[in-house]
Amino acid sequence: MEGANDSASKGACHCGGCGADNNGSFLNPTPMLDQLESGPWPSFVSGFKETAERTKKPMLRGVLDQLEYSYNTRMGYWKGGLVTVDGYGAGIITRYSMIKDKFPEAAEFHTMRIQPAPGLHYNTTMLRELCDIWEKHGSGIITLHGQTGDIMLQGIEQDKVQECFDELNQKGWDLGGAGAGMRTGVSCIGPGRCENACYDNLKLHLVALKHFIGQVHRPEWNYKLKFKFSGCPNDCTNSIMRSDLAVIGTWKDAIQIDREEVKNWIAAQGMDALVNNVITRCPTKAITLNDGEMEISSRDCVRCMHCLNAMPKALSPGREKGIALLMGGKNTLKVGVNMGSLIIPFMKMEDEEDYEAFLEKIEDIIDWWDDAGLDHERIGETIERVGLQQFLEGVGLEYDINQITRPRDNPYFKAKY
Ligand code: SF4
Ligand code: SF4
Repeated sequence: MEGANDSASKGACHCGGCGADNNGSFLNPTPMLDQLESGPWPSFVSGFKETAERTKKPMLRGVLDQLEYSYNTRMGYWKGGLVTVDGYGAGIITRYSMIKDKFPEAAEFHTMRIQPAPGLHYNTTMLRELCDIWEKHGSGIITLHGQTGDIMLQGIEQDKVQECFDELNQKGWDLGGAGAGMRTGVSCIGPGRCENACYDNLKLHLVALKHFIGQVHRPEWNYKLKFKFSGCPNDCTNSIMRSDLAVIGTWKDAIQIDREEVKNWIAAQGMDALVNNVITRCPTKAITLNDGEMEISSRDCVRCMHCLNAMPKALSPGREKGIALLMGGKNTLKVGVNMGSLIIPFMKMEDEEDYEAFLEKIEDIIDWWDDAGLDHERIGETIERVGLQQFLEGVGLEYDINQITRPRDNPYFKAKY
């Protein structure tokens, strides 16, 4: 790149050709990145620039310069490596610049993954402490939260990682998961604030995290495994698509109907709204009007949550609550994008015994995957390769006619019904 120089020397753009001047700013000109600030949405470029100008951290200037160069050359220049803290084998994502001679200020820009609190809610004291420690040792840039669910502290050099971690750890924070182990779990706010919650997903998240904390910090499996805990089938954590083990609250009995509130709803919205926006939109036609009274057939209801969301005061989940476990959700890997398959339709989740039974079942599932899975194979991919029947038999679960996509094509299942 003719004309480029290292990012420590300021004055002209580092893209290699435009020659723009920095007009005395701490930052070098980045005309291509600037275009990302012109749209209607908040831009990460603005966040980087604001933090760099305020903190005067050369690392941020270097990363902006390298990114500008990447946009011009249409190449990425980060490579991985290994950075850990004492006693841990995971939790830090390494970013070494492949062109550090050109941009020495961007030589290292590692990310520390920090475990979020169940429900993703924090008090301001904790956040202030986190920000102060991060600004002291790292770049000051935070993503809250990344796709992994972690708090992503982005941009630190290797020789500062241990001290930064020690200070964070003393304030109660811990590293999240990475590599071939248990990854950071995510839960919605659940019973903390939401009337739809069908189990205490915050507690189950914590119980599972404590149980698998060894495998979070020291990866030992074929590949990664992710939990997400949604309090109800609205699935605000997107667990069905973004986790290997989707734990979703559900109920077994009838939806609770408050007749007075139904009347109030109809008085406010009108009978037409009930018919057009609620009854006809039930995907399984489980709702009928009987002499003007709304009736719901529990047998036909597939717990889609539409009617409960439309009439939140009048309708609520049934009384017999618990969880459903779905498995195998993930984004593109070897066999494409998968949504989770329903493995356990209902499990009570009320006391210590229920938590124990849940953890035992998950241990069985992981043991099976450890034996049957290939290296770098997500559990959904293993099930796809060997077949659902093999998996269910391997972990001692009953299979059900509803799990067969094309019953007449498959002579190996015998229907029980
Ligand atoms: Fe509430 Fe259900 Fe969303 Fe959790 S998933 S926040 S319980 S609506
Ligand atoms: Fe129908 Fe969904 Fe309501 Fe069940 S939850 S009755 S499937 S709209």
